[in-house]
Amino acid sequence: MENFSQDFDDFGGFGGFSGFGGFSGFGGSGGSGGFGGSGPSDGKTLYFALTDNHIKDPNYRYRHPEPIVTLNGKKGNKTTYFENSDYYAGKLRLPVEYITKYIGGRLSCTSSYDTTKNCITFKGEYSQELIRNYLLEFVKVYVLCPNCDYPECVLEYNQERKCLHKHCESCGTNSNIVFKSSDKSYDFIEKQLKKINKQKE
Ligand SMILES: [Zn+2]
Repeated sequence: MENFSQDFDDFGGFGGFSGFGGFSGFGGSGGSGGFGGSGPSDGKTLYFALTDNHIKDPNYRYRHPEPIVTLNGKKGNKTTYFENSDYYAGKLRLPVEYITKYIGGRLSCTSSYDTTKNCITFKGEYSQELIRNYLLEFVKVYVLCPNCDYPECVLEYNQERKCLHKHCESCGTNSNIVFKSSDKSYDFIEKQLKKINKQKE
């Protein structure tokens, strides 16, 4: 039986656990501890988790190096490179284009994948902290399980419900992903997954 948990309240939910005040740091100094509430931030480790419980676990598997973000170009015409974006796409088992669209949409800028440098680029100048926070937001919306908090969800398009949903391979929970107008990747992902469904028919 399918067990659809209630809709996963994506962006809003971030405020849900204490200390996510890191977001207020946007635009700011890019100082450390932006994600204070989601665990220790030593500037070296990125945790794919929502709760501190997992993060306190020394054997937690889903810890990753921090995003590497560099700036290129002349003043007034900068491009931001998300250098190790392929790494995360691989770990998340998702096409890198999903991440490109999501973060680009949240930044409201032109984003693309640079095939010579093999990384995502954003037109404009953005801090590492900003990219990192939107990456975590993407992970929360599309990959983290709202029940067990493991990033083990597989994305699908649900024909009956006419929406994206994710199925957790760890605990079996299914949850709908509700469209938010701030999420510019939703339609794109939906289109891709519908195509995959068609191929399966
Ligand atoms: Zn789960």
